[in-house]
Amino acid sequence: MQILFATSEALPLIKTGGLADVSGALPAALRAIGVDCRLLLPGYPAVLAKLKYTRPVARFDDLPGGVAARLLESVQPGVGVPLYVLDAPDLYDRAGGPYQDATGHDHADNALRFAVLSQVAARLASLGSPLAWHPDILHCNDWQTGLAPAYLRLSGDLRPTVMTVHNLAYQGIFPPHTLSLLNLPAHAFSIAGLEYYGNLSFLKAGLYYADRVTTVSPSYAEEIRSEPLGMGMQGLLAGKGEHLVGILNGIDTDAWNPAADPFLGCAYTAETLADKSHCKRALRREIGLVEDDTAPLFGMIARMTPQKGMDLVLSIADELVGRGGQLAMLGTGDRDIEAAVRALAQRHPGHVAAHIGYDEGLSHRIEAGADVFLMPSRFEPCGLNQMYSLRYGTVPVVHATGGLRDTVDDGVTGFVFAPAEADALRDAIERVFDLWRRPAQWQAMMRAGMRQDFSWRRSAAAYAALYQSLLGA
Ligand code: ADP
Repeated sequence: MQILFATSEALPLIKTGGLADVSGALPAALRAIGVDCRLLLPGYPAVLAKLKYTRPVARFDDLPGGVAARLLESVQPGVGVPLYVLDAPDLYDRAGGPYQDATGHDHADNALRFAVLSQVAARLASLGSPLAWHPDILHCNDWQTGLAPAYLRLSGDLRPTVMTVHNLAYQGIFPPHTLSLLNLPAHAFSIAGLEYYGNLSFLKAGLYYADRVTTVSPSYAEEIRSEPLGMGMQGLLAGKGEHLVGILNGIDTDAWNPAADPFLGCAYTAETLADKSHCKRALRREIGLVEDDTAPLFGMIARMTPQKGMDLVLSIADELVGRGGQLAMLGTGDRDIEAAVRALAQRHPGHVAAHIGYDEGLSHRIEAGADVFLMPSRFEPCGLNQMYSLRYGTVPVVHATGGLRDTVDDGVTGFVFAPAEADALRDAIERVFDLWRRPAQWQAMMRAGMRQDFSWRRSAAAYAALYQSLLGA
């Protein structure tokens, strides 16, 4: 089976969120079970700088907006997955991140930037591809490649497509006049097409035109069929019936391994749990929390957006500290949430530490050093940190939603609460403190979490079965 996996970010080349973790790991896991999966990525400067070599293999002169681009061939560093990079300097060679400039504003030409990526994905999947390698299936991810199934179908090509939604909250919405710039026919601008409440939505296009829609956990696949998590797409998604499925993400069990994590100065396994206390001590020293062996240390790592429920933590944090808990927070995002987190840390020096920013090493040290991990997300398509936490023996406290509900077993591997309100979180924290006072039971919970298998092998097998069924159909 040959699969073209089109995405706008993939580790270790470029990352803004969970999409990069999936795109960085799933293609390699698919190849390991015999699926010839190859990546397509935009040629951001960060991507090109990290590639040892690139070789031009095709050029396109008639892309939307009159854009010309080269297709470069390379391999994904570390894992050797064949990689196609779309080199279009006018679109991708600029300062800032993949979607936003250095001041945090969306690039003004994002519609064109990702329409071009989608168009190239569609061409590579079509009969008219300039490459000798022809994928059996085009697999697209999130709004940035959502137009690809539309371009393919509207050109009359019937090559099967899969659209994976990593987060339905990002829908790639642009004003209707964008349509003509993107070489899309006017008739496609309808409810049965890519129109979305009077605008154009790249994500809706992908959901509508793709043969199969997947999302990253079974629970989220059910939740998005109705309000409120359907976020306006619920009608379309409910109509997909069994063609919408949830496949739980895996985690990179090499990068996230408490027995051999290069970001740590300590190591432990389920058999040497006592050594986790070295990680806790080192973390406290690093972020300035006071030594206190009786105090449970709560960690939280998240983009600081309303989705992640940081406000729930803020509303119970003073009580948590009052009861003797400590809190280590890492994240960056909305300025007002950042300010509230900073203020919390200032109110409780030595007991609450906040690091505003993106710091991969510190994220590993919090996972290893904390006793408890807070993940009160209002919604969570899959979530990675709760799985890292389970693997690190760091007991997760999660809201019963999406992938959190599918990965944490209440009372067995962690604590699951609902609804997403401060009172429910407060009750869960109460249960944490109760168990904390019973070390044997606490350690049993740590070990139960550490025994879970969240490897990509499992997820890759599920994707391969989906591809197989699509080709069979
Ligand atoms: P999302 O994709 O919604 O951001 P996930 O839990 O699926 O949430 O994935 C987030 C990933 O980004 C995790 O690997 C998490 O550790 C990482 N991350 C988020 N914020 C930070 C940060 N400030 N510093 C380091 N890593 C972070």
